[in-house]
Amino acid sequence: MPTSMETLLEVKNLKKHFPVSSSIPFKKSNQSVKAVDGVNFNVYSGETLGVVGESGCGKSTMARLINQLIKPTDGVVTFKNKNLVEMDAEMLRSTRKKIQMVFQDPYASLDPRLKVGQLIAEPLVIHKVETKESRRKRVEELLEIVGLNKRFADRYPHEFSGGQRQRINIARALALNPELIICDEPVSALDVSVQAQVINLLKQLQDQFQLTYIFISHDLNVVRYMCDRIAVMYLGKIVEIGTYEEIYSNPQHPYTKALFSAIPKKNPFEQKERIILKGTVPSPLNPPSGCHFHERCPVAMDICKAKAPKAITTENTHQASCHLVH
Ligand code: SF4
Repeated sequence: MPTSMETLLEVKNLKKHFPVSSSIPFKKSNQSVKAVDGVNFNVYSGETLGVVGESGCGKSTMARLINQLIKPTDGVVTFKNKNLVEMDAEMLRSTRKKIQMVFQDPYASLDPRLKVGQLIAEPLVIHKVETKESRRKRVEELLEIVGLNKRFADRYPHEFSGGQRQRINIARALALNPELIICDEPVSALDVSVQAQVINLLKQLQDQFQLTYIFISHDLNVVRYMCDRIAVMYLGKIVEIGTYEEIYSNPQHPYTKALFSAIPKKNPFEQKERIILKGTVPSPLNPPSGCHFHERCPVAMDICKAKAPKAITTENTHQASCHLVH
């Protein structure tokens, strides 16, 4: 749970439009893929904000924009009251120590040529933290923090299971004492039994080190267990955001209603019929006009094609962008 309502990260009008090359030689294309298209949200210190949505909705691009692994087309990312987008390279490098990432694929995210100790020490070397001798001690400490034997420092990643590799990734993310960790589908490549262990580890580390998480996932059950608030993304935009309870018990946006209709209710008598959406997420190269969801929305109206809805606050922290929300 958040330790306070103090904002650690603020994202305003964040956009990433990837230019598309023209099929005609020497002719510039005006088209772009609108992977993230005007996203706004806050992350409070000590909370876990879940980001959910179908594949291709822009979740992972947004994660990379937050820590500036890719530069945004527009928008502001403020971490501890400082705008990362406008920072010079040196300032950004130093601020990035406090924002780390855990990636989805525990196999691809570790260089197979390096020993585990070297992999975990890499951030310390890059940022010139500690001496060669003290780094070894720090690596051993980090291995124990994530529940691995310190002797594993001398082994290679291929000697470990998926769950163990994800623990190594988490140790690496913790090396520089971050405040914010962006977890991009951290358990979706793992077996269900191992998923629970890694999720419990992340929760335990959050309490131990007062960490704040952005937790990207398509698995609503994992999100329910892990997150305090949820942002629902559709085609590069956040269509609804609120606490888990607000969204679970009273979803406002038709897309959120469809997503959450798949989760069993605690009381089976409250279970509503599952809403199956037609079609797939449209291409971000040519998103539908007005509300991007109108082609699939079961309750779309004429206005939805013409006008994009604004975010409306319905209660406390709960907001949704739909013409039917007042
Ligand atoms: Fe559906 Fe219209 Fe609301 Fe979009 S704005 S979700 S199309 S009702």
